[in-house]
Amino acid sequence: MVFAVKDKYLLLNGLSGAVSLVDKQTGEKFLEGEGSEELNPFFTHLSPEEEAEKAQAFCAFLRKKASQCADSTIAVTYDCNLRCPYCYEIWVKNPQMMNMVMDEYKVDKAYAAMEELNAQCPGEKLVTLTGGEPLMRKNADIVQYILRKGDDLGYKFTLFTNGVELHSFLSEISSVNTEFVQITLDGPQPIHDQRRISRSGKGTFNAIVRNIEKAREIGLTLLIRTNSDPDVLSRIGELAHFYRERGWVDDPHIHFAMIHVCGQIMNLEDYERLLAVYRQVLDLAAHEDFRFFEASPYAKLGSLYTEHPRFWPSFWNCAAVVNRYVFDPFGEVYPCRAMLGWKEHRIGVYIPELSFEEAVEKWRNRTIFALDMCRECDMALLCGGGCGYQSLLVNKDLYTPACFDVKQIVAPYLEYMHERRNAHEPAQG
Ligand code: SF4
Ligand code: SF4
Repeated sequence: MVFAVKDKYLLLNGLSGAVSLVDKQTGEKFLEGEGSEELNPFFTHLSPEEEAEKAQAFCAFLRKKASQCADSTIAVTYDCNLRCPYCYEIWVKNPQMMNMVMDEYKVDKAYAAMEELNAQCPGEKLVTLTGGEPLMRKNADIVQYILRKGDDLGYKFTLFTNGVELHSFLSEISSVNTEFVQITLDGPQPIHDQRRISRSGKGTFNAIVRNIEKAREIGLTLLIRTNSDPDVLSRIGELAHFYRERGWVDDPHIHFAMIHVCGQIMNLEDYERLLAVYRQVLDLAAHEDFRFFEASPYAKLGSLYTEHPRFWPSFWNCAAVVNRYVFDPFGEVYPCRAMLGWKEHRIGVYIPELSFEEAVEKWRNRTIFALDMCRECDMALLCGGGCGYQSLLVNKDLYTPACFDVKQIVAPYLEYMHERRNAHEPAQG
């Protein structure tokens, strides 16, 4: 397949895995069936069966490589100090779940499992801390234990926090190898304070801002995330102004992400509305006043715009298919963070020892080759079969993708990347 992005063309060659960005003239030649050296990878003399066989071998190679290192997460607790109305975890929140917190025995077991899963890992071992809210003062001892033990074992940390009690953990976090801390600010104060509220209903904007300033003082790398919707987007100028006034935009340690549709569209009937928000986010993030925001649903497509383009085709959708392991405080293992607490879909346990159930094989085999509707789809190498969690939610079956028009997501994103790249390129002449 081929499609145009401004003056560039993206070419995908069936299942052989060749993907590239070529100029308009070359793209037009391809459409006319004319060959050239640059286009050679996009023509094949293989039969469809031979091509599929070649692609499966390539997929197996990539999977083996990707599964060498575990993408691990420890969910410290299901409890949270906030009560945000939109929280995806609300459905699992009940007293029995909320009271369960990691303890030293479980942390030791989780790390033992991670070490087993990372036995062949040639690179950095990574672990993310999440919850609920991982950084609550009442759990300070166990958080300290997790950080110190992981540090001793050579792990690098990422932390997802609402930022409200971050100040109590700063010295501990800065003493270990931390990649970044993700904090959410959902718009300018009046909007944020309606959404990110404490148990007593109070807004949290000022407390989080104070903690971001404290984190900056010690040079922590931060990712400030904003969940966008039309209300937030209509006032994004105020938020950008606030960030600029504080000097955050020019701080090399702070990055900004605008989150939109997300990988999972729970309600496909809502698709058009979400798509409109998505396009608005991309337009804004391409605008020079807001370019510091990143909007990256298909981050890997960004590599098409780097000096040495290298794009790996998506034979699968996400890390949940190959190497993601999420350890919860009940001793259970999940394939992704969004599924935490959905007990019937756990993939295994790590207490008393790490052991996997049948479900893990179903996840591990969820490549485009196993999904009937994806095998012939011309977007498969970008989409990878969509979100498995969404398939379970919408279709009650991991292998029945809740498919939507991926081209409408990918094409605007490539245009956005193109604008950004042009904005950074020095003028010719
Ligand atoms: S989920 Fe849909 S768009 Fe994605 S590869 Fe499968 S058929 Fe194609
Ligand atoms: S299964 Fe879906 S929700 Fe889970 S990590 Fe993958 S894309 Fe995200």
